[in-house]
Amino acid sequence: MPIRLDTSVQFLKGVGPRRAEVFARLGIHTVEDLLYHVPHRYLDATTVTPIVRADVGTEVTLIGRVMSTGVLPTRRRLRIFRAVIRDDTGLIECAWPGQAFLERTIKDGQLLLVSGPVKFYHGRQIVPKEQIVLAHADDDEGQTSGAGMVLAVYPATEGLSHRQIRRVIADHIDEMLELVEDVTHAHIPAALRLPSLRDALSVVHRPRAVEEAEEGRRRLAFDELFDMQLVVARARYLAKRAAKGIQHELKKDYTTQLKNALPFELTGGQRKVIREITSDMTSPERMHRLLMGDVGAGKTVVALFAMLLAAENDSQAVFMAPTELLAEQHARTLTKLLAPLGMVPELLLGRFTPSEKSAIRERIASGSARVIVGTHALFQEQTAFRRLGLVVIDEQHRFGVEQRAAMIGKGEAPDVLLLSATPIPRTLALTVYGDLDISTLKEKPAGRREVRTTVRSSRSRAAIYKFVSEQCQAGRQVYVVYPVIDESEKVDLKAATTMAEQLGEDLHPLEVGLVHGRMKSQERDATMRSFRDGKIHVLVATTVIEVGIDVPNATVMVIEHPERFGLAQLHQLRGRVGRGGEESYCILVADAGARDRLRRFSQTADGFRIAEMDLQERGMGQLAGARQSGGVATRFTDFTKDDDLIMASRKAAIRLIEDDPLLNGDKNRAIRKRLERRYERAMELFRVG
Ligand code: ADP
Ligand code: MG
Repeated sequence: MPIRLDTSVQFLKGVGPRRAEVFARLGIHTVEDLLYHVPHRYLDATTVTPIVRADVGTEVTLIGRVMSTGVLPTRRRLRIFRAVIRDDTGLIECAWPGQAFLERTIKDGQLLLVSGPVKFYHGRQIVPKEQIVLAHADDDEGQTSGAGMVLAVYPATEGLSHRQIRRVIADHIDEMLELVEDVTHAHIPAALRLPSLRDALSVVHRPRAVEEAEEGRRRLAFDELFDMQLVVARARYLAKRAAKGIQHELKKDYTTQLKNALPFELTGGQRKVIREITSDMTSPERMHRLLMGDVGAGKTVVALFAMLLAAENDSQAVFMAPTELLAEQHARTLTKLLAPLGMVPELLLGRFTPSEKSAIRERIASGSARVIVGTHALFQEQTAFRRLGLVVIDEQHRFGVEQRAAMIGKGEAPDVLLLSATPIPRTLALTVYGDLDISTLKEKPAGRREVRTTVRSSRSRAAIYKFVSEQCQAGRQVYVVYPVIDESEKVDLKAATTMAEQLGEDLHPLEVGLVHGRMKSQERDATMRSFRDGKIHVLVATTVIEVGIDVPNATVMVIEHPERFGLAQLHQLRGRVGRGGEESYCILVADAGARDRLRRFSQTADGFRIAEMDLQERGMGQLAGARQSGGVATRFTDFTKDDDLIMASRKAAIRLIEDDPLLNGDKNRAIRKRLERRYERAMELFRVG
C-alpha cells in the first residue's frame, strides 16, 4: 500500500502498532509528523573534540567506542556507573554518579557520544550531561568520526532511542519526500534565497554540512512564520476593516484638563504613545493596539488619557482588570487623577451586592457612567452600555480570547487598547501579537530609583533576615517568594508553608502572611489586602503574587531558589518593589551554579533587554505560552536569529490577505487548507467575510 502524508506511522515498515504508541508520545502520529520530526542537533568534526584534546575544566562533546564498563560503589553508598571510551586519539573515563541503571543501556563496543564537563579525578574524567548511543558493536554504520560526516541527532523518548528514530526516518525518507507538496507561492521563499520545501526537508534530515541543515531549517521556519502571519493578518483585517470603527475627535476638553491637572510631567515616551493612540482613535478604522511597558512605566495614565478622549466624545470607556484587587487599585488611582476634573469613575465588581450592582448597571446603561473600572462583571450578560467607545484591558494575557471578545462585543466596534507588563522583543511581538499595532513605553518616569539587586548564598540567610527585620522595624514591608511551579506539588507547597511558619517565629513579633495558589481566592485576597493595609509585614508568596499589585511601602523582595525562574519572571517579581520613594532591594538567594546568569540579571534593569536575555536562554517556549498565536507554538523558528524571516513573512502575509482576504483564489486555496489543518483558529477566522 502506498503511503500518504496522513497515513498512520504504524503502517510504516519497522514501526507497527506497539512502536506507534511510543511514537505518539513524541507527538508523531502520521507520516507527515515523522517527516517534520527534525533533528534537534547536528554533530560534525567541528563540534566533536578529539579525546586527546579534552582538557580539564572545559565542556566538550566526545565520540568514542566503549572499551569497558562497570559500576563502582562508593563509601557514601552512591553507585557510580563508569565507562572508558576511546577514539583514534586517546582514551577517557566517563563517570555517571548515581546512575548505575545505565549499565543496562551502555555496553562494550558501542559507539557512544557524551557531552559534559571534563574534571580531574585520578586522571581526566568526563561527567556527561548527555549521552547517546550512536551505534552498537555489530552495526556497520557510523564509523568513528568519519571525516566530513554530519550526524543528525533526533529528539528521543523512553522506549524509543535516537538510533531507532534515525533508522525509521532513514528507511523512509525518500518515499516521504516524494509526497511533499509546496503550496507557498514559490517566488516568496525564492526571493529570500531559501530552498524548496522538499530540498529543505531533505537536507534537514541528511545534511552534508551543518550549514546546509541550517538553510533547511530556515525554510521550515519561514513556512511556519508565514502561516502564523497569515492568521494574524486575517485577524487584523477583520478587526480593523470588517467593521468600521468610531471616529473619535480630539476635543481637547477632558483630555486637556487631565494634562493640566496631572501632578507630574508626562515622559517623552508617554507623550509619544498618547499621540499614537490619539491618531488611532480619531481615524475611521478601529484601534487595535497593544501597549507594552514594564511595571511602573506609567501605562495607567496613558490609558486614562484614551478613556477621556472617548468620554469627551460622549462615549463610554471601560478599564478591565483581571482581579478585584487590581480593579480596586485602578479605581483608586483614577479617582485621584480625575478629582480635579470633577469626575468620579464607576467601579463594578462581582462581589458587590445585587442591589449595588443593579444600581451601577443602570448608570452604565443610561450612559451617566462614562469612565468605568471593573472585572469580569463588566462583560456579563446583564451589563449593557449606552455607547461603549473604548475598551482597555489590563494584563491582557490573563483574559481568554472569548472573554476579551465578550467585553469588546458590548459595544459596536469600540476601540481596543490592551496593556501588558511583560515586554517582549519587537520581532517576537510582531509574531505573537501580529494582529495588533504595538506601542512601547521604555523609559521610566523620572526620579524612579533602580531596585538594588544582589545575589547572596544561602549561608547569608541569617544576615538577610536580619535586614528584613530592620526594614520592617523602619516601617517597610517585605515579600519573600518561594517558587512553587506546579501548585499541585505538595512537596514545594509544604516547603513554602514551613518557611512562612519558621519566619513567623524568627521574626516575632512581626506579622508574617502566606499566599499560595491553592488557597481560595477570597482568602488570598483577604491576605493581600492586609498586606496592602500594612497589617502584615512580611508576605511569603508562591508564584501567585498579583502582577500589578501596588504596595509602595514594600521595599524588599527576597527570592528563594531564583534559579527556578526565568529571567523575565524574576524581573516581574522585582517590579513589586521600588514603587515608593524609598530605596528598594531585590535579594536572590542562590548557591553556586546559576549565579552567573543571576549576576547578569542583577546588573540589568531594562525589561526589554531582559526579555531578550530570557529568549536566548529559553527559546520561544514560555513566552509563546503567553499567547500562542492561533494555538500553535513555533517549532523551527529561532527568535534570536530569524528577524529577517519574521519581517519578510509578515510583509508577504499582509500583502496576500489584502489581495485575497479569504484566500479563495486558485493559487491560494491550498494555502488556506494548510492553515485550517494546522491552526484551529484559522477555521473561524476565514469562515466569515
Ligand atoms: P504601570 O501601570 O505601567 O505599571 P502606573 O501607571 O501604575 O504604571 O504608574 C506607576 C506610578 O508612576 C504611578 O504612581 C503613577 O502615578 C506614576 N507616574 C506615571 N507617569 C508618571 C510620570 N510621567 N512622572 C512621574 N510619575 C508618574
Ligand atoms: Mg498597571
